[in-house]
Amino acid sequence: MEADYDVIILGAGAAGLSACVYTSRAMMKTLVLESLGSGGQLLITDEIENYPGFPEGVKGPLLAQDMETQALRFGGELEYAEVEALDDIDKPVKIVRTDDKVYTAKSIIIATGGAHNKLGAPGEDELAGRGVSYCAVCDGNFFRGQDVVVVGGGDSALDEGIYLSAIVKSVTFIHRRDELRATKLLQERAFAIDNIKFLWSHVVENLVGNELLEAVKVKNLKTEEVYEYPTAAAFIYVGFHPNSEYLQGVLEMDPLGHIATDLHMRTKVPGVYACGDIRTESTRQLGVAVGDGITAALSAYHDLL
Ligand code: NAP
Repeated sequence: MEADYDVIILGAGAAGLSACVYTSRAMMKTLVLESLGSGGQLLITDEIENYPGFPEGVKGPLLAQDMETQALRFGGELEYAEVEALDDIDKPVKIVRTDDKVYTAKSIIIATGGAHNKLGAPGEDELAGRGVSYCAVCDGNFFRGQDVVVVGGGDSALDEGIYLSAIVKSVTFIHRRDELRATKLLQERAFAIDNIKFLWSHVVENLVGNELLEAVKVKNLKTEEVYEYPTAAAFIYVGFHPNSEYLQGVLEMDPLGHIATDLHMRTKVPGVYACGDIRTESTRQLGVAVGDGITAALSAYHDLL
């Protein structure tokens, strides 16, 4: 059976789009399948300061748009569809199924990235979109001039909390320890902003509200005191998980759902590659995702020669 494509790239984030530039410039017939919008994490990142070549920084959504334009310049195709299953991945012609179509390819590059974790607290699901958010860039404007909280103490929490501090009245970080995980530069920036406060050694037990979020019920882990902390919004940044559910039973994964590759982004299955945030030991950096995508594309190209 002839395959429809030389390569199908799953995911149009930074890794997938970078792979597409290289496969399509190498004249490989390329299809990119994306479930939401091109750009992945770029779409929910306001300002990117650590991607080389942009000395003044660059807006994530703008970079996403440019990456998509560049990726499709050389003949690659992009379709919006959620991949539901992969079949025959160990065969020379591999099958990719979406809800209404079946595609075949000689190689598959998996670049479906990941998503922010939920807190798992009561009220979180009920109030999602009504004060509970996982994307400051998307939802911050709704809370202009109001008091909000950010849950978490990593780079994502600090980046997004600093962004929010410019548009809301105040940002309170709720962090379960008394030391942040985020890089020192971000910590120093946050400490220097007047309308940023910290509730150290606190956890959120409940998200409280009827129609809209009204408060978070927090617990001080040092004193055991439990109390309600009024807020218009809770932005949750408590880690990240790979989008790999659809690969269960198809590819070997670590317990958290990351896919192991060698340095060339090859998985254990010939013709199947993984790159970006879905990869075991990914440093979750934009530049690394771009490099991973390029490496996967070059490996796919060489393996088909
Ligand atoms: P992360 O580094 O894993 O941080 C998650 C934060 O949430 C930690 O502070 C953690 O607390 C807290 N947390 C986890 N589970 C919790 C729970 N159940 N309840 C309360 N708090 C909880 O995740 P991330 O911030 O999304 O970053 C992930 C990776 O992406 C990192 O490698 C990061 O460097 C990278 N990243 C980089 C940038 C940048 O370069 N500007 C921006 C965003 C992300 P503990 O600290 O106590 O564990």
